[in-house]
Amino acid sequence: MVKPCSHEQFLVEAHVNKDRTSLDAAPHHYWMELKVRCAMCGEPMTFEGLAEDSAIDRPCVDRSGKNARLPLRPAGKGRLVMPMGGFQRGVV
Ligand SMILES: [Zn+2]
Repeated sequence: MVKPCSHEQFLVEAHVNKDRTSLDAAPHHYWMELKVRCAMCGEPMTFEGLAEDSAIDRPCVDRSGKNARLPLRPAGKGRLVMPMGGFQRGVV
């Protein structure tokens, strides 16, 4: 009998994307797309606690639960404030 994998080492695939209004404009949205799988057996990990969505301005996960999308911004431009109940735009 084969011992089940204990899932203790991981491979992370991360891509940072940007969106701009025109080719010569500075990007105005950044987001990271993440996938994680077990390095030992290859089983994909699912993200927990994220809403299923395809938005680029709030953390979310796709229908499979295996692909997370996290908004980013340069640290010098402040950060989004997260009050109870969700995100709100603002500079802190
Ligand atoms: Zn594993």
